[in-house]
Amino acid sequence: GARLSALSQSEFYRGVRQLKVQEPRSRTQRMVEQAELAIEAMNGYRPHPSKLWLNLKQRKHGTLTQKWCAFNWKALNGAHKVGEFWKHTPVSDRYMPCTSCNAPVESLEHIIFECRMTNQELVWKLTKDLWNRTSATFPDLNLGIVLGISEIDIKREDGSTDRGLTRLFRILISETVYLIWLLRCEWRISREADPMRVHPASEVTARWNARIGRRMRMDWNLTNQAIHKTRALNKSLVQRTWNRLRLSETGITVNVSEGVLVGSGAAERLPGRNR
Ligand SMILES: [Zn+2]
Repeated sequence: GARLSALSQSEFYRGVRQLKVQEPRSRTQRMVEQAELAIEAMNGYRPHPSKLWLNLKQRKHGTLTQKWCAFNWKALNGAHKVGEFWKHTPVSDRYMPCTSCNAPVESLEHIIFECRMTNQELVWKLTKDLWNRTSATFPDLNLGIVLGISEIDIKREDGSTDRGLTRLFRILISETVYLIWLLRCEWRISREADPMRVHPASEVTARWNARIGRRMRMDWNLTNQAIHKTRALNKSLVQRTWNRLRLSETGITVNVSEGVLVGSGAAERLPGRNR
């Protein structure tokens, strides 16, 4: 760091002021702590906090998308412009609460797990229904799991890590939360937070299906060694990620060209299917 003599007096005092202003535990520390607690509960160990940042930088095994990692990084920093972010600003009355839900603070937790305007209930139901095909228990979710998803493991009964299910879980949670976030921002900004203009369920279902289908297709594309060389995904890992959904047994097939889960709700309602 800079030696004291190298700092001008004003720079020095600015630094001191910043130290004083900082709360005892910063927003970042609180967010990281939540993630750590969730990871400890699921994995049985507490990773070093730096592991969380590193995971998001590395995006190992193509599990988390770049967009997710940017979202997660910002969330761990408490830097999304929601809820408390607006607390000490002149526009806090307008931007801090979720007035449609009567929630005093529109926190990430509210958006992802409580809000009636983000379609989160529907999207979580789709996610659980899909996960239940693996016959593994769907964990009780909380914000910590979302924040720490890059490190969350799904364990077998003997305590070992199930790499396929772990990867599926990380993909499903990150894709689902990201869609909820998009729906929230679209509603809040483009639709001017009008409770009458919440996205229709059919659109949300179709978008969720498309996202998951796209991820599945991307995964298989990434196993192509001729194209992706050493960065290609391991075929057996991709197999173990998606095979647990036993899509063949349920008559669901992946329409690779369109990246849609054909046979799931939205697709069944397409007109003219049985003509
Ligand atoms: Zn709300």
